[in-house]
Amino acid sequence: MKSRWSDEEAGRCAGDLALRVYTSRLLGAEPALVLHGGGNTSVKSSSVNLFGEEERLLYVKGSGWDLETIEPAGFAPCRLQPLLALSRLPALSDSQMAAELRKSLTDLNAPSPSVEAILHAILPARFVDHTHADAILTMTNSPRGDERVRELFGDRLVYIPYVMPGFKLARLCAQLYPAQAGRNTVGMLLLKHGLFTFGETAQESYERMIELVSLAEGYLARRGAWAPVSLEPHERAAGEPTAEALRTDIATLRQAVSETAGSPLILSVHSDAGTRAFATRPDIATLSQQGPATPDHVLRTKRVPLLGRDLAGYAAAYREYFRAHGGPPLTMLDPAPRVILDPKLGLIAIGRTAKEAAIVEDIYRHTMQMIAGATLLGGWEALPAQDIFDVEYWDLEQAKLRQGASPPAFTGEIAVVTGAASGIGKACVASLLARGAAVIALDRSASVTSLHRRKDYLGLTCDVTSETGIRQALEQGVRAFGGVDMLVLNAGIFPPSAPVSALSSESWRDTMSVNLDANLILLRESHPLLERSPRGGRVVIIGSKNVPAPGPGAAAYSASKAALQQLARVAALEWGADRIRVNTIHPNAVFDTGLWTPEVLAARAASYGISVEEYKTNNVLKVEVTSRDVAELAAELCGPIFAKTTGAQIPVDGGTVRVI
Ligand SMILES: [Zn+2]
Repeated sequence: MKSRWSDEEAGRCAGDLALRVYTSRLLGAEPALVLHGGGNTSVKSSSVNLFGEEERLLYVKGSGWDLETIEPAGFAPCRLQPLLALSRLPALSDSQMAAELRKSLTDLNAPSPSVEAILHAILPARFVDHTHADAILTMTNSPRGDERVRELFGDRLVYIPYVMPGFKLARLCAQLYPAQAGRNTVGMLLLKHGLFTFGETAQESYERMIELVSLAEGYLARRGAWAPVSLEPHERAAGEPTAEALRTDIATLRQAVSETAGSPLILSVHSDAGTRAFATRPDIATLSQQGPATPDHVLRTKRVPLLGRDLAGYAAAYREYFRAHGGPPLTMLDPAPRVILDPKLGLIAIGRTAKEAAIVEDIYRHTMQMIAGATLLGGWEALPAQDIFDVEYWDLEQAKLRQGASPPAFTGEIAVVTGAASGIGKACVASLLARGAAVIALDRSASVTSLHRRKDYLGLTCDVTSETGIRQALEQGVRAFGGVDMLVLNAGIFPPSAPVSALSSESWRDTMSVNLDANLILLRESHPLLERSPRGGRVVIIGSKNVPAPGPGAAAYSASKAALQQLARVAALEWGADRIRVNTIHPNAVFDTGLWTPEVLAARAASYGISVEEYKTNNVLKVEVTSRDVAELAAELCGPIFAKTTGAQIPVDGGTVRVI
């Protein structure tokens, strides 16, 4: 592992806290040291309080902050004295400890101090760094792990046997550290948990972390146990599924997982050679069922992955694990897995959101690496189930459950939007993301790929008139999120105005191809996915006022939208039994869309003999209708308010005299 320290960058940091932020970020940038909120750091300092007294302070990482992106405001300023006093108490519950940690703050607006704050307080050095380094965990989670680390690091470290993080660990360290520490001590190793290093400067503490972790990596490398997970080419199984069968297969699995969890979940499927090689190891049944690398991973990944597809078996085993290690009055978490290892699909990462699923993927990829390494040292030895359970169900986590705010309406659900790069489609993407859905956005314009940069957005360049293009897009979407719950059919073209007597066959065919034929393909190809939606599928068709009230010069457009409307009505009839609702919105005069160039607008206004301005608000309510108005209605149509509505046609047009 290479040090990322730069004298130049460090030179720009004014003061200890700035340096603390700098090296915390260096640690956070290294996934082999910490992942997603793991690890924590601190610096000791002093300041003069309101009464002119000098107080010693501990700035320690606040909970909810990630080392990779932490800022000065992410460090909680605690008075050091009360923390040291707490470390001498014989007992304290973790929720009491959390309350006492908050009381020690000098700034009540600061984040809650890390639960490992007391550990940082008792270590005398000014700077303290703590990580859950892969190489250290690989060593301590292998046979004779504690002997290996003692041989390698000798008296440079103090060794602490595993106990539950929180007050018990702080108390044990407060006793063992002074007893073991000597002249050479530069850190403290918590077996099967992680490593602390410290120093008088930010650089010293950081460089010690890098040096010790590098020693561990070297130790593993010399034993051939620090190679990437084997990327042996996976043998293609006989009867490899077609892409279509694969989509349905994944959606079926997601439906079952969501049912087990009691709410829709996102599944991301990673079928690369590495994950498939791991999932098909002959010893996978033993290896994968030992437990996580470090206990706090349990909060993301559950204790063990599901091997294969027996969800009922997994859920029954989880209930038994809950009963055997804790049981009531604790509140049982949902019994669905968060990681599935499947010989055909590879690694499947599961979360309530796409972001959570991405975190699960990262953690499990590192876990596979550590398991593979430890196995080469003789075996993977995770903590006993009770220790993992205690972290999964500890007070502070249960308290979070009790407080749990209700998540956005479409959390765990997936929507496809066509024509998503601009206008109504773009607005639909925003409305669906705002309600917690993951969105697969299709558009022929490549700008769709960069519309949003977030884990729950997948923008794909796709010509919806291409059957192959649609199939490929659906496959990519289903691999990313696990299925399709909502389909918003928005892509459409508005050809140049032409009377029927002069309407070219080409313009007619082009219009039908995009506005009608493409939607048949999308409906047909999405049906198996919508049918497997945990809450029932929903289709929203963006129709047009031209269906009930066509305008002169718009024959192709009006006819295509009218035919689309008939298609939607038949789909509503046919798919009701599959719990799929199909509804149509008829917008009119939405001018902030790609269809309405100034020329088209002027031509339409002229055909009614009014000005452009009058044309824009030419409705009963005299209001302008925006893309956002249409998008919000489309999103609501997918929600619970319209749960008992299908086959409906709803105008969003400010009221049209000819329709009313
Ligand atoms: Zn830790």
